Amino acid sequence: MGSQGSDGCSAKVKLPEIKFTKLFIHGQFVDAVSGKTFDTIDPRTGDRIAKIAEGDKADIDLAVKAAREAFDHGPWPRMTGSARGKLMFKLADLMDQNVEEITSLDALNAGKPLILVKLVDFSDAVNALRYFAGAADKIHGETLKMSGSLLGHTWREPIGVVGLIIPWNFPTTLLFGCLAPALAAGCTVVVKPAEQTPLTALYYGHLAKLAGIPDGVINVVTGFGPTAGAALSSHMDVDKISFTGSTKVGRLIMEAAAKSNLKSVTLELGGKSPLIIFDDADLDMAVELARAAVFFNKGEICVAGSRVLVQEGIYDEFLKKLIVKTKEWVVGDPFDPQVNQGPQIDRRQFEKVLAYIECGKKEGATLVTGGKACGSKGYYIEPTIFADVKDDMTIAKEEIFGPVMSLMKFKTIEEAIERANKTMYGLAAGIVTKNLNVANTVSRSVRAGTIWVNCYFAFDADCPYGGYKMSGFGRANGLNALDNYLQVKSVVTPLYNSPWL
Ligand code: ADP
Repeated sequence: MGSQGSDGCSAKVKLPEIKFTKLFIHGQFVDAVSGKTFDTIDPRTGDRIAKIAEGDKADIDLAVKAAREAFDHGPWPRMTGSARGKLMFKLADLMDQNVEEITSLDALNAGKPLILVKLVDFSDAVNALRYFAGAADKIHGETLKMSGSLLGHTWREPIGVVGLIIPWNFPTTLLFGCLAPALAAGCTVVVKPAEQTPLTALYYGHLAKLAGIPDGVINVVTGFGPTAGAALSSHMDVDKISFTGSTKVGRLIMEAAAKSNLKSVTLELGGKSPLIIFDDADLDMAVELARAAVFFNKGEICVAGSRVLVQEGIYDEFLKKLIVKTKEWVVGDPFDPQVNQGPQIDRRQFEKVLAYIECGKKEGATLVTGGKACGSKGYYIEPTIFADVKDDMTIAKEEIFGPVMSLMKFKTIEEAIERANKTMYGLAAGIVTKNLNVANTVSRSVRAGTIWVNCYFAFDADCPYGGYKMSGFGRANGLNALDNYLQVKSVVTPLYNSPWL
């Protein structure tokens, strides 16, 4: 691709067969009530992959009805946690058995390197599913010795029907980040995958049925955000929405919840995360981390370390090495194993990222490498670095969601902390230093949900993850994530000598 790779779309690749294109409601694949479809696009070329059923309000109503029935009268919330866990383990096994097909669907639909989909997206999702399957039989309340000779106990009960609104950047990982704890808790769900990446969510509907998960527990309605997504978030019979996506849409979801039935909401939103590199850092490690932190997944990742703050003593040397390493970063067909970076998800994102690059140039940042689209078709963009970026420039403030790094120089630890926090977001931060005191001081002072010291993107099913400030609230991963899908009921009974009797 241009000077970076070979070709935007290599002819040799064997693409996966598209087997599931209809809505999955109450265990059946069905057309949309309207009969409408929309095109799902191959970001390598801009061509259509398949026509997908376009769900809207009427389909959301049917899916919610199925989920409601499964919750109110079906076996799923009533069976033992271990029985639920067993079916979830079965689903994870089926995913493993179909790993090649699933991962090539995500690679194709989202333009992600196939190898990374296997190593990261897919394995994180299956790990989360197994983690929460193992937690399903460990959900219990407390017993309380109450005043007035009363005995209290609490139940932790599933919250009910949950709408999962999923973005396109990690169609599998972010789905299972919500689906796995929701299932473990005993909830039933309606999934609304992103319109850009509907293929794997439908596939998981098929596998859930094979695993023996009862009909109506998992429903999938493909379609657009302002129609299907909005119908789900304002539905009176939905008890909770878990949303991952932009801060703008997160706000709409909260509004819809407030204006309908005051449903509970968990939001995982945008970020503008700082990666702070101190003078004593291992320079090669710092360069590797900085490159991965913003170019991994073509920058389409909410925790991207898109603001790289480098201490003045190593700034020049760091930049020199970073440019060399960035030129080695290969852009091209995500099915080519040599490729590091595929195309941006769609034309809208592609144009948005290029507009940010223009804005960076206009506002006076120094473009040191990249800065252009590449290839003759599809949505490929060169990995791009701006140096001399000031805090008040648009590229330093707004989430670009593309392969664009803003490099900044700082002098003192206090300045680094202050500038790291100069953002409305608070999803993650990275620190690169050998000094434990510096690492500890900065970790405590940066207002973000996850701090990575001498590493980046180090996720685990057991490690809570979520935002401070306008990056959202609620935590995915870790046992605490179950709390998003549970509520506590207190039951109080008098003892034999209680004044209540
Ligand atoms: P992006 O702008 O990067 O595409 P979004 O936050 O718009 O990301 O999309 C994330 C998810 O939110 C997608 O599934 C999308 O369909 C959905 N969505 C978009 N708009 C709305 C809305 N008004 N109500 C509910 N869901 C929406």
